[in-house]
Amino acid sequence: MDAIAFPSPFSQIHPLFFSASQENAPRYHPVSMIPNPIDFSRFKCCSITGSKLTQVDTDQLFDEIPLRDTFTWNKLIQTHLTNEDPIQVTATYQRMLLLGLKPDRRTLPRVLAASRLLGNLSLGKQLHCHVIKFGFFSDAYVTSSLIELYGQLEGVHAAKWYFRTAKFDKNNAVAWTLLAGMYVKKNKPELAIDLFNQMIDHGGKIVDAVALVTVLAACGMLKSLREGRRVHQIAMDCGLDCDVLVGNALVKMYVDCGSVKDARGVFDGMRCKDGISWTAMINGHVKKGGFNEGLKLFRLMNRDGIKADAFAISSVLPACARVAAHKNGKEIHGHLIRNAIDMNVTVLNALMDMYVKSGSIEYASRVFARMKDKDFISCTIMILGYSLHGQGMVGVELYREMVENSRVEVDHMTLAAVLYACYSACMVQEGRYYFNCIRSPKVAHCALIVALLARAGLFDDAKALIEERKISRHGEVLRALLDGCRIQQNFNAGKKVIEQLCDLEPLNAENYVLLSNWYACHEEWDMMNKVRETIRDMDLKPRKAYSWIELKNKVHVFSTGDVSHPRSGSLYNILQNLLKNVEAEGFRLTSDFSLHDVDEERECNPCGHSELLAISFGFINTVAQQQIRVTKNLRVCSNCHEFVKAISKKVEREIVVRDPNCFHHFKDGFCSCGECW
Ligand SMILES: [Zn+2]
Ligand SMILES: [Zn+2]
Repeated sequence: MDAIAFPSPFSQIHPLFFSASQENAPRYHPVSMIPNPIDFSRFKCCSITGSKLTQVDTDQLFDEIPLRDTFTWNKLIQTHLTNEDPIQVTATYQRMLLLGLKPDRRTLPRVLAASRLLGNLSLGKQLHCHVIKFGFFSDAYVTSSLIELYGQLEGVHAAKWYFRTAKFDKNNAVAWTLLAGMYVKKNKPELAIDLFNQMIDHGGKIVDAVALVTVLAACGMLKSLREGRRVHQIAMDCGLDCDVLVGNALVKMYVDCGSVKDARGVFDGMRCKDGISWTAMINGHVKKGGFNEGLKLFRLMNRDGIKADAFAISSVLPACARVAAHKNGKEIHGHLIRNAIDMNVTVLNALMDMYVKSGSIEYASRVFARMKDKDFISCTIMILGYSLHGQGMVGVELYREMVENSRVEVDHMTLAAVLYACYSACMVQEGRYYFNCIRSPKVAHCALIVALLARAGLFDDAKALIEERKISRHGEVLRALLDGCRIQQNFNAGKKVIEQLCDLEPLNAENYVLLSNWYACHEEWDMMNKVRETIRDMDLKPRKAYSWIELKNKVHVFSTGDVSHPRSGSLYNILQNLLKNVEAEGFRLTSDFSLHDVDEERECNPCGHSELLAISFGFINTVAQQQIRVTKNLRVCSNCHEFVKAISKKVEREIVVRDPNCFHHFKDGFCSCGECW
């Protein structure tokens, strides 16, 4: 590319800006170069001063302009800039100088912006000389353009150096904010806040909305509620807290700092709200587990006529990713379709995840089947989804197809998902094969293969793998082994693993609960009492078991042996009658050594177990045939599992129970989990 020099015979450089002794000073290149695109015969512009002009030569254009004043040139330069044609900007500027016209304070920022867009630092430095020579070095507007140029092309240190040394009127928030914004972009929020404080010290009245938005973003990044509140106060003092931009930034800052209450206070006080305000607030609630609040806001947002976009939808979908909220999820899916909202891959992934977690694997797979651009996340969600819902084989098949049709290397999450699929379908051979494909397996992958081997009764293989990988000191690996012992009813091996766990994690109450239950299961009451004493002496607090069911937008929670509910009498009656009925048909209670709730669930009549109370409550409050959906915080015990299977046949209803391990779809006396959970 040819290079041409600007026509100004500048020989002197202002020593203030380019002293060689200055550290961090931008390096100055004395040879003035700009790319030479100038072929005026091809120079076309589309619009000037607002009217559309097409296919007009600039030469011709300027011949027709009677007054060749700077104002007209500036307009032309701006047109090229708006058209994202920086080369024509510099060409027009050069021509302007050749004609002997002087640039003004509006010309130079535009040409500086063009050199920034071109990524041409030496051109920028040459223009910096023009700024000095034409006497604009104290102009705040021009100076801001230079800060932007140096920040983008030479780094924030160069911008800061220029900001500090340049002699311009600093009673203007633009330059300060530009620099603070650069620090935010460079992930240095503390420096941005520092700069904001300096600006306040310099003259508090110069704060504007953009400055506040920038510093609030920095406070959010730093998660500093103290700084955030201080800036909030400054915004109120300046009367800027009512500005919608500032309001949105305040909501987001409080959400980022973890204070949903403060965020909601700002949100409720905002006179003007836009889609961004609503989305930020919904996101805040959902992130903190306030699912119902998030959903309520989403409905209010629609009622207020604010159209939910893909961001709002992605924020609210996690609120529906619970068994209890499957209806809300469908409602939002309907909203997406009715309003023709752009369903990009992120939204569709969130939608599938929601359906998987709310218990509707069929809906998730329908969304997946219709997706045009699936990514690895989409496949991982579905592989995990199928496995959670007792269809591990489908998950393995999906993985196989995905690997065949793609050359991209799969990531650790997807590999863990396929191992989980093998585990849930008890596909030992496939599991071993995929595990051996992992170049450097993480402990999580090892735990999954151990769980699979143990579940299949291959304890020797599982132990050999633990030895070989030296992972016997990882709780998750031992728990995987223990699950296998439970499923295979291998009591002796189970006890050894529990003892190892107690040794490895002496402060984890759950391990002693397991031990105590093991003794209870073997009717070794003395030993069981000793372990329970240990739990008490060490002041350990085992987790309590809870189950909940949502009916008519209200969540009903039950603990083990709960009698606090006004209708608990009928709840127990229903269960006792059902138990009698199924016992008459041959149902028998068994023992389970890995119950969690030591004091209560061990007393082995399942009628008092929380999930059964919740199911019984569901029977009273729903119509016949209606599916019952319950969630439990701990693993369902085997007695309850057997009992619910029998109930589902007796009452001819589908009962879905979500526990931390998987979804149990009970129907006609069978469970989708295949007895392994
Ligand atoms: Zn139970
Ligand atoms: Zn099950």
